[in-house]
Amino acid sequence: AHEGILRRQSARESAARTYARALPIVPVRARGLTIEGADGRRYLDCLSGAGTLALGHNHPVVLEAVRKVLDSGAPLHVLDLATPVKDAFTTELFRTLPPRFAERARIQFCGPAGTDAVEAAFKLVRAATGRSGMLAFTGAYHGMTAGALEASGGATDVRVARLPYPQDYRCPFGVGGDHGAELAARWTESLLDDPKSGVPLPAGMILEPVQGEGGVIPAPDTWTRRMREITRARSVPLIVDEVQTGVGRTGAFWAVEHSGITPDVMVLSKAIGGSLPLAVVVYRDDLDVWRPGAHAGTFRGNQLAMAAGTATLAYVREHGLAERAATVGARMLERLRPLAAEFDCVGDVRGRGLMIGIELVDPEGPPHPAPDGPRPAAPELAAAVQRECLRRGLIVELGGRRSSVVRLLPPLTISDEQTSAVLDRLADAVSAVSA
Ligand code: PMP
Repeated sequence: AHEGILRRQSARESAARTYARALPIVPVRARGLTIEGADGRRYLDCLSGAGTLALGHNHPVVLEAVRKVLDSGAPLHVLDLATPVKDAFTTELFRTLPPRFAERARIQFCGPAGTDAVEAAFKLVRAATGRSGMLAFTGAYHGMTAGALEASGGATDVRVARLPYPQDYRCPFGVGGDHGAELAARWTESLLDDPKSGVPLPAGMILEPVQGEGGVIPAPDTWTRRMREITRARSVPLIVDEVQTGVGRTGAFWAVEHSGITPDVMVLSKAIGGSLPLAVVVYRDDLDVWRPGAHAGTFRGNQLAMAAGTATLAYVREHGLAERAATVGARMLERLRPLAAEFDCVGDVRGRGLMIGIELVDPEGPPHPAPDGPRPAAPELAAAVQRECLRRGLIVELGGRRSSVVRLLPPLTISDEQTSAVLDRLADAVSAVSA
């Protein structure tokens, strides 16, 4: 079955498929951190549906919530009508949001994907401000539809100005730390304020508190607060994309809690649907200039996703899984950081909570920009680590600069024992590649 399924799907499916190329497995069963393939092999899954599975695969509370809706006879498709299931989801979501944001917030159900919510957010701030341009950051990922794609560095006709995202390892100013972050902030200020920059006042700014697809780059909280000041002073709505960072992933329920900022708009998807497709945009009430029908869509009322999402949000909140993600993530970084000293091909190890990245570099390549600066990205080494991990029964994802960063996004429910197994297999894979 395993070989036949792989063969038929590769013959018929688009070449655009991503994960399938690197992960020749045919999942047939899954529970928690574990996936079982059609060939009977078992894997520890640190990809987790690209960070969607906060509670891992098939968590009992999620299954029970979905079954309850199925057994109740409730309609499964209701467009955007009000239902008890939607009421429960909205109530639970607002309970988790930063109170100062939640008290003045409206919610728009989009869907089914994160990119749909990004589009809705862009459209909303354009309607609210009457302006059209957007500000986004180098290395950002917001989705694959036209507007979101443009903000991610793709090529469309939506005007997006790109600004430097702060980072230590490949700091565009070569200094890193708070100083590098401050220089990035000043760049943004001067772009907005210099009439010669040619960038008119934008409709909004969109940022990720931790860049995920961009290679796991956590923004310093000081920088995030500076972006809040800069946008507020110029009445530019600040859109925070928490599609990947939300629901405990970074060690706080929402990553904006680390910096304490209050965004104008939050874009949420992935884990909020408890593994089923769900995406929403939540925003300050005075931005709600939309007339009925201004933003429509057939699949905005997925009752199963809302029920799975309610169960997930409540479980993460009640079981303190954000704190747990902070603790386990710190332990992982502590164990993985020494790999950078031990192996020349490990350029950097970084992360926040359970978003962890290991950047592979070419030890022979020229350092840049300073003689002791980072070496060139080594995508082939990262792919080799991914392959070695798979051989050891561990699924990891790649991201970042030319896919040179090995990424871990384990479920927040990962046990201490499972954490040790993941770390052992990963360290072993890195060592095998360096040998
Ligand atoms: N924003 C961020 C931060 C993401 O990580 C992603 C997906 N990886 C998206 C938006 C797009 O979500 P989707 O793939 O569901 O369209």
